[in-house]
Amino acid sequence: MALETQVRAALEPGGALARYWPLYEERHAQVELARDVARTFERGGVLMAEAPTGVGKSVAYLLPAVLHAVETDERVVVATCTKSLQDQLFERDLPAVLEALGVSVPIARLKGKANYLCPRLLEMAEATGDEETEAIDALKQWAAGETFGDLDRFDAPDAEAWRRVRPRVAADPQNCSGAVCRRGRECFWARARRMAGEARITIVNHALLARAAEVEGLLPPYDVLVVDEAHRLEGVLLGQLERSVSRHRIEDLLRQTGSLRGGRRGSGLVARIRSTALPLLVSESTRERIVGDIDMLSKRADEAREDVETLFRQVAEGTGGAGGAGIPKGGSPYGTRKRFRSQHELLGRELQGLQVVLEHCDVFANVLRRSAGAVTLAEAGAPGEELAAELELVSSRWTQVRDDLLTLTEALDPDWVYWKSQSPHSKVAELRGSPVMIGGFARQQLLARARAAVLTSATLSTAGDFSWAADRLGLARGGAPECEVASYPSPFPLHEQMRAYVYDGGADEAVAVSEVVAQLARAAERNALVLFTSHERLKRARARLASLLPPGRTLLAQEVDGPAGLLVERFRKAKGAVLLGVQSLWEGVDFPGETLEMLVVAKLPFSVPDDPIVEARGERLRERGQDPFRADAVPEAVVRFRQGVGRLIRRSDDRGVLVVCDPRLANASYRKPFRASLPVEPELWRDARALAAEAARFLIERDEVAREDV
Ligand code: SF4
Repeated sequence: MALETQVRAALEPGGALARYWPLYEERHAQVELARDVARTFERGGVLMAEAPTGVGKSVAYLLPAVLHAVETDERVVVATCTKSLQDQLFERDLPAVLEALGVSVPIARLKGKANYLCPRLLEMAEATGDEETEAIDALKQWAAGETFGDLDRFDAPDAEAWRRVRPRVAADPQNCSGAVCRRGRECFWARARRMAGEARITIVNHALLARAAEVEGLLPPYDVLVVDEAHRLEGVLLGQLERSVSRHRIEDLLRQTGSLRGGRRGSGLVARIRSTALPLLVSESTRERIVGDIDMLSKRADEAREDVETLFRQVAEGTGGAGGAGIPKGGSPYGTRKRFRSQHELLGRELQGLQVVLEHCDVFANVLRRSAGAVTLAEAGAPGEELAAELELVSSRWTQVRDDLLTLTEALDPDWVYWKSQSPHSKVAELRGSPVMIGGFARQQLLARARAAVLTSATLSTAGDFSWAADRLGLARGGAPECEVASYPSPFPLHEQMRAYVYDGGADEAVAVSEVVAQLARAAERNALVLFTSHERLKRARARLASLLPPGRTLLAQEVDGPAGLLVERFRKAKGAVLLGVQSLWEGVDFPGETLEMLVVAKLPFSVPDDPIVEARGERLRERGQDPFRADAVPEAVVRFRQGVGRLIRRSDDRGVLVVCDPRLANASYRKPFRASLPVEPELWRDARALAAEAARFLIERDEVAREDV
């Protein structure tokens, strides 16, 4: 039977899902999506599927994935953006679909290496204080009976001690010498990869998928790929390909390499060469050479530190680009980014500092590699083998940092953009570089590896047009998508559930936002989320709201009152609270029912135009004869805006009001796609108190409707 037909049968009333879930209701959009996914699995090619909240996306792709894996030899990989969504799919949704269908296929979950416990590091872990001792003991007990070794699943007795211990026991991708590791048999990471190799359905996250696009063999070959939250894939791929060199990166290598100075026994690999290999070396000449080498490395470490500091100061102080003053990073006061287009623009004629640091990297790489050979000659058994492997590994990291430093300072690749970034109180800068566009990479290294691929999200289009998202992922030609695209309607009566207002409160965003939020809080004691595009304006609004809000109201500002995760939990439990957020709160957070009824968007979320990547992308689009603002900036902002607005209505019985404090939504020439993304027409208001009264009236009216329905 065709996969599409099987999927249809499982979803219809009386079908497998209805028999398994007593409250199951057939949803037209879910059935359509599941059928389109099944068709893509069978025919091959790429489907971009936009399905809003409430459609039941995960079941719509897991169901055909399971049926397909059962019927064929093909391997399916499902990627979602966060580890918590990955856990939810693996622990709840996928087992439920398997059980409902009454079938069984091998399944696996694979996260990045640093998420797994490293038994070797656990063996060597030393505690500072009673709490850490307790955490390490509990971890050892847990590890003894554990299958996955996934550190997210460990329930630590003391959260603070665990926060300190975790990085010391997590598998370290930079320092794992897997091939000769004595604990390799118990290695959880190796086990997770073996399980993925045997599975027919593997659940991964975007970060791992992006890494696998660069690292051959990290994921077993797959035939079918499903990417959920696909609107975030390009950003994750860009992050994966980005290169950076900082003083900290080199300092980290110096620390690992170690020295015989500053302590009786010395530190790092150098000290281990002396204690592990030196006493066993039979050849006098080899002994002499290695003593000379480790002495030289120890001396060089101090010089290298100074030279690296000098170079990164020079980078910070140099003109570094025609742009003049620093570019605020995402409008934040936390750092600047300055683009440079050539080595001359970055360092002028003074290249001596760079040459010296490159030479240090070469010397450390070569001497460590040579030391690995000497350690092997010492025949120090398993510890010697491990040490030699670590020396090789750190040597190759020195080579890598050298190559990155040279590539970034030369700034030669026309398809890349280069910049230096600097935090406000630092005297040194960091060098960074990124491809300008990653469409070709996404297509060849990721999507083309699968015979069939489904990219799904609640936000992929701009007023039904997928061109922008398709282009960013290498799936468009001549400005039009080259793949199948489909949008599915919301199952919720959104036009009844929400009202939207534009508030024109003057040019000062922080003043306008605090005024309208204070009025909303006075008119209705409901939870309000306020989304900003700038930390600086968030902070100013917070300062004003502290005195404007009615007494007793909880006011939470991201990174001012705590990290986002903690504030989200406090906000969910509060009544009449105001949560001010940036970036991470625009998407991926779920506030159903009364946990959120008032959403305020401070500004339409355009990227900062002089961000180096945005600027470079604009140049490429102009070369292609496109207007960067219309072709790129507007659709990108529309997708972000839709994500933000999507926080408001999460269930069929939710209600809420949206206030956008940006009059451009009412009068800008490019307002149409933003307005088209709202289920209701927004009304323009200039009186914050009247707007708040109207919003409160709507919420009370919806309360009454809800009571009548009950
Ligand atoms: S191979 Fe060894 S060092 Fe690497 S993660 Fe596994 S146990 Fe740790």
